[in-house]
Amino acid sequence: MSLRIELEDVGRVFRSRGREVTALDGVSFEVEAGEFVALIGPSGCGKSTVLRSIAGLDTQYTGRVGVGGSPVTGPRADRGMVFQEHRLLPWGTVRENILFGFRGTRAEAAERADELLELMHLEAFADAYPHSLSGGMAQRAAIARALAPRPEVLLLDEPFGALDAFTRIEMQDALQDVWRRFHTTAVLVTHDIDEAVVLANRVVVMAPRPGRVQHVQRIDLPFPRNRASDEFARHRAELLRQFHLVH
Ligand code: ADP
Ligand code: MG
Repeated sequence: MSLRIELEDVGRVFRSRGREVTALDGVSFEVEAGEFVALIGPSGCGKSTVLRSIAGLDTQYTGRVGVGGSPVTGPRADRGMVFQEHRLLPWGTVRENILFGFRGTRAEAAERADELLELMHLEAFADAYPHSLSGGMAQRAAIARALAPRPEVLLLDEPFGALDAFTRIEMQDALQDVWRRFHTTAVLVTHDIDEAVVLANRVVVMAPRPGRVQHVQRIDLPFPRNRASDEFARHRAELLRQFHLVH
């Protein structure tokens, strides 16, 4: 099962050293159960703040954030999170890291780890330690770890931002495979317009100062998407226009 996410008139003000920053102002959007939404916008427009409020890592917002019809009051195991840095435990193997948040019998754990290792093409690295992995491999392990408890919601904050362009495309395909397999509701924060158009059912464009929703674009193209198609180029151009990057 996957859960619907709703944000209604969400605001967040940070106060530090006498300064106030309105990180979010009147942010409203929803993510349907099983939908993939990409959140895109320039640095500082509040993307991470939105994701952290959905994750329950930041509860100091005004307005309403709901997951599965209940207000978010703190972090829960049914929300898997992936960050730009892999955040794997350096002293654990890939298999141990994947099972870090998993609760179940030894047999269930072994089965779940095997399934995710296979899905993320990490079988050969099950007993490797994070320092020996490439950036892409480490992010595959981080995604596998987030998926291990079978989360209802998958939240990704620029997960491929530190990877080279070729690895990034491989990772986008891998993420799409797991999303289509598990039907998880997914919210992906990205700076990358192509990444949003490849993966998302809808793209939410945010603008800064104060952080707000500027535009929502539905991408009604079948999966897997053809990065070289005319329809793809049309969606890319529309998003570029939103950022005044084309005329
Ligand atoms: P994005 O992820 O889109 O780059 P963030 O959500 O991280 O943006 O930040 C939005 C705004 O809120 C920025 O101006 C940032 O400086 C500010 N901000 C975020 N977290 C904090 C914090 N813990 N304390 C003070 N200001 C913060
Ligand atoms: Mg951020």
